[in-house]
Amino acid sequence: MRRSSVTIGMLIIFIVGFAAGKYFMLSYENSTFKSFYWLKDPIILNCHGEDMSLIRVKKALRYWDDMGYEYKKYVHRPDKKACDGPKLIEGYVTLRKADPDQLDFDILAFTTRRHASAEMKGATIYFKKNTEGLELLLEHELGHAYGFTHVTIPGHIMHPNYDIMGKRFWIPD
Ligand SMILES: [Zn+2]
Repeated sequence: MRRSSVTIGMLIIFIVGFAAGKYFMLSYENSTFKSFYWLKDPIILNCHGEDMSLIRVKKALRYWDDMGYEYKKYVHRPDKKACDGPKLIEGYVTLRKADPDQLDFDILAFTTRRHASAEMKGATIYFKKNTEGLELLLEHELGHAYGFTHVTIPGHIMHPNYDIMGKRFWIPD
């Protein structure tokens, strides 16, 4: 009896873990944790709109600033022209809303990056509807924009699973 309940318990953990593990896109191309770096600090551009709150963005930027990853400036209300241009802008980390069919149902947000060998050239973070306020989600995606990939250590900000990641950051051995 006991043995089978443990087995079922583990099976449930496996299924839940498997489902939750797909919350974030796993398709980062480089297995090195710090894959890319910015030569000049990026400008952060809020093309997401007013529902991306100033407090949320400032908190996420402060998070990385405290780790030594800085930005040049943050533009909370950019010109419409700047946001209507190319989706990925050189020198910028742009925050945008995902199109309704852009992300799979179980993906909360996604970051696209442009780089020339190891040097970051630009990044765009896409948020699914109503995910922009989620605790630590912008921090995680900014991690990709700063050049990090996923690491499967529970509690680490770059864990690919939203339920298992945490607020801590360090460069693993
Ligand atoms: Zn991720």
